[in-house]
Amino acid sequence: MRNVMSNEHIRRIERIESLKREKNAIILAHNYGRAEVRAVADAVGGSSRLTEAASETSADMIIVCGVDFMAEMAVVLNPDKKVISPVRNAVCPLARQLSRNDLDMAKKENPGAEVLLYMNSLADTIAMADCVCTAANALPIARTMGGDLPLLFGPDHNVSYYIRKGAKKEIITIPDSGFCPVHHKISLVDLIHAREMHPATQVVAHPECRPEVQDHTDYIGSTGGIVRFCKESDGTEFLVAADVGLSDMLRDEAPDKTFYPVSEATICARMKMPTLAKVEEALVTEKFQVTVPKEIADAARIPIGRMLELS
Ligand code: SF4
Repeated sequence: MRNVMSNEHIRRIERIESLKREKNAIILAHNYGRAEVRAVADAVGGSSRLTEAASETSADMIIVCGVDFMAEMAVVLNPDKKVISPVRNAVCPLARQLSRNDLDMAKKENPGAEVLLYMNSLADTIAMADCVCTAANALPIARTMGGDLPLLFGPDHNVSYYIRKGAKKEIITIPDSGFCPVHHKISLVDLIHAREMHPATQVVAHPECRPEVQDHTDYIGSTGGIVRFCKESDGTEFLVAADVGLSDMLRDEAPDKTFYPVSEATICARMKMPTLAKVEEALVTEKFQVTVPKEIADAARIPIGRMLELS
């Protein structure tokens, strides 16, 4: 049985590679995606890496193995290419927490304030921003913005805390309680319990974690930053406050070190929706094409372009 499955797996990978060549397609996969999908991707990373890859590609088709705002970003940067999602409803709940109305009201209440949005936002709100950022570049970008006025930032209030503390910026968060349900679920109690089990470890966390978790870490950063930190650190054991898939990935990247997720329940199910079978199907049928209205895409390209320039 195992041999049959293995042959099927190999056949699928060969078919995907062949379809990519035939259709001049590339696959972008987020670090939180399934390992089997990351293995066939042309670019793997967090939002920053995937945005760079989408901005540089000459492919005719982009298969985005991530969530909805990532696919929209690929469309915005590539209005003439076909962007396909392998699944229909890979919705990031965080990106839905900021509406155009809320952003419009905040802009009116704070005339002159610049708007920095976390990339985990939908294109229609990004179109109203001055710049976007990811966990990887939020601090240096925030330092260049705002002048003497507070910076408007949304939609994640935990990332807002990270920027306020790290970039020493006055920030108005919109909405004031937006959060990623996956990272926000990790509590300080979870972290304390995990430290009792593994006292000699260093703690790394994603900035979408709660402030009290961020305040008890050795390193806070993007998924790519966490991988770099753990590889370069003299430490050999790490507690990881992020999606459990990142701990799996870290074990592959640094096999001589040990990684423990702070909570085994920290899983972004939406990021795991694309399977190898769905990727193959997407290349064959092209059925879930992602689109963004032209006027929104044209406006959203400006803040995304500013981020790419500043990165
Ligand atoms: S981990 Fe959180 S922010 Fe990232 S896609 Fe999943 S729900 Fe959205």
